[in-house]
Amino acid sequence: MSDISSQKIRQNILSSRSLRLCGELIKMDKQQSPEYAKMSQATAISLGLVRGRMYRGAVNRCVNLLVHYPDGCSANCAYCGLAKKRPGTYHDKSFIHVPWPVFPMGQIISAINNTPSYVKRTCISMITNGKCRQATLEMSRRLKDETALPISILIAPTILHENDLAEMKESGADKIGVAVDLATPELFDKYRGKGVSGPHKWEKYWEIMETALDIFGHPNVGAHLMVGMGETEEQMVSIMNRLWQMGVVSHLFSFFAEEDSRLAANPQPPWPAYLRIQLARYIIEEELVRNQDMSFDKAGRIIDFGLASDLLGSIISFGKAFMTGGCLGPDGQVACNRPFGNCLPDVNQWNYPYPPNEEELDLIRQNIFNVE
Ligand code: SF4
Repeated sequence: MSDISSQKIRQNILSSRSLRLCGELIKMDKQQSPEYAKMSQATAISLGLVRGRMYRGAVNRCVNLLVHYPDGCSANCAYCGLAKKRPGTYHDKSFIHVPWPVFPMGQIISAINNTPSYVKRTCISMITNGKCRQATLEMSRRLKDETALPISILIAPTILHENDLAEMKESGADKIGVAVDLATPELFDKYRGKGVSGPHKWEKYWEIMETALDIFGHPNVGAHLMVGMGETEEQMVSIMNRLWQMGVVSHLFSFFAEEDSRLAANPQPPWPAYLRIQLARYIIEEELVRNQDMSFDKAGRIIDFGLASDLLGSIISFGKAFMTGGCLGPDGQVACNRPFGNCLPDVNQWNYPYPPNEEELDLIRQNIFNVE
């Protein structure tokens, strides 16, 4: 074969490859909500859409969906895998360390209708994208009409309009989540607002929680809080107490750096500190103490929980305080248990997605009062 004809063949192969790639990209661009949604990898495993098994037989009890647009989220939260300025496209950006494959809503709905009985709720997570409002309502209506699971919406307060929360209730949602994430207004502004040229405002998040409480009532409004963002334990306890007094339940997360994000080099919070915050949340929400009953050292670390030591010991041994907190299912147990969303699978977990066993409880007891 002459050099000229082999060159032509190569060119033809290359251009047909580019055409195929272009075709794939156009197809991916057309995949958007409300007809499509992203789904967490753990959910895809639970629903049988992806093959896999989790450490210690963990199961994901919630169908975690993410509203999907090719142009993604317009915000830039410093710790988030979906932040606009994090390298990558919205299609391939990981979120909470795992891929979120895209599925058609029809396929998601039929998988939900054949789901194992341990799956107790569906959650739609919004992103900060103006198109998201209408799509979320349509997805919620479809899920209400075509499935039997209750529905939560993790809202994007910055883009919401006055009647959106009422419309969300009418569309079928019975619980609302608000990702406040930061424990103080200064940290919020630094990592979600002006500090990252982001659009979010602390005051707006608190206003929306008040409105959500008016519409959905206690205990149907939850706030996400992330430990390990530079706050003290005292500040985190104070915000959890404030939220509980107004009727909002705290759902705790631990910072766990996303590769290539602004905070990629930052460490997870120390495990003992996270355990103490989990225990504090539990006893505040069980109404055994308020933040003012607790004592802190100069660095703001909890040194006294304000409870008798034998009672505290029994609560620790019960283990529930250290399990993932999130929206409940109809059985009264946490449905949104987010297995290994905060850390790698191991005996020490920054949120146990199952009741901790004796080995894990021993480790918790050995570590929880360690303030090194
Ligand atoms: S608004 Fe939500 S999805 Fe968007 S960057 Fe911030 S935390 Fe991530």
